[in-house]
Amino acid sequence: MPDRITSVESFALKIPRDEPYLGPLEEGNVPNETGCFVRPRNKTVYSIYDHCVLVKVMAESGAVGWGECVAVVTPHTTATIIDELLGPLVIGRDPHDVVAIYEDHYDAMRVRGFFGGFYHDAIVAIDIALWDLRGKLTGLPVSKLLGAQRTDKLPVYVSGLPGATREDRAALGKSWIEKGFSAVKFAAAVSDEGEEAEMDAVREAVGPDTQILVDLHWRFTAPQAISLVHRLEPYGVSLIEAPVAPEDVEGLAEVARSIKASVATGEEYRTIYEYRPRFLARCMDVIQPEMGRTGITSFMKICAMAEAFHCRVMPHASIGIGIYQAASLHASAALTNFAMHEYQHSITDKNRAYIDGDLVCEAGVFHLPEGPGLGLSPNQAALDHAY
Ligand code: MG
Repeated sequence: MPDRITSVESFALKIPRDEPYLGPLEEGNVPNETGCFVRPRNKTVYSIYDHCVLVKVMAESGAVGWGECVAVVTPHTTATIIDELLGPLVIGRDPHDVVAIYEDHYDAMRVRGFFGGFYHDAIVAIDIALWDLRGKLTGLPVSKLLGAQRTDKLPVYVSGLPGATREDRAALGKSWIEKGFSAVKFAAAVSDEGEEAEMDAVREAVGPDTQILVDLHWRFTAPQAISLVHRLEPYGVSLIEAPVAPEDVEGLAEVARSIKASVATGEEYRTIYEYRPRFLARCMDVIQPEMGRTGITSFMKICAMAEAFHCRVMPHASIGIGIYQAASLHASAALTNFAMHEYQHSITDKNRAYIDGDLVCEAGVFHLPEGPGLGLSPNQAALDHAY
């Protein structure tokens, strides 16, 4: 008899930060009463808090699985979809049907035009919780459930060099290289003196052998991006992320054809349907699926499609306490086309206080968490931040 699902519970978290994600606020930029503010350089809303949504799924036997999804802002929006719609649909189902449950959830709203966004994020939290629950029920880590634990050490690049000045950010990059890391990425959204000056300072600080990746935060038209990248190329840029608007498939393809560096994108796409036109247009050679927006089931479908287009996978890492980060490591360990994982030190290292289990990134590699399922779970301190 299957051990059927008996309860699904969501938790919207609000965790204080000393400094906003991506670094100090620009002069005159004041958060509103909900803690939200817009970064002027990329027109994107952020929060002064770390928000995410956790899901606890329980089976008849009392076994528990934990999931988490991205909820950079308004986490109650996602939690409500879980509590009022998706959670009740899952009760009584067999957790080993996790792929079917994911697909049924996607089908349930697709003809109404819910192909992604908050709706898919809610699906994701449950999907990850069910994979964790399967691991708890079988005694196997998620990577083994996916059929391949190719490694237990996953190479990373250090992402985001938060600092008030260009010198601070370059010095931070250098400090990571001294700790045994070999790749760093800086963000155009906070490169206030321009991307070329930022690139020059970071290259000077990290030396000639370090890979430098540049996140352009969707800020440019294709001709602008091509011109900028040509100016960055003499400094040895290895990868350009998100050069043009998320909707601009043709523009991204034009960039990819025109520059020597790799083109990467994909943190904003959640399904094979969103990725498909971009693969067909050959507009990237690296994809960056975000586990907190894809879940394990969709992540594996996307990466299988990437394999058919000979694209490498460098998974994105967003704001959370580490549950979907662990899921991303397990899924990455099962890939044949995995290249490097993003390491968001300003999130992972701070929020480690909210998990039981080891989420260790040192000397250039993430260690795959050990134990059944994801190998880690939220602790009471995390749940105390539910609001
Ligand atoms: Mg990015």
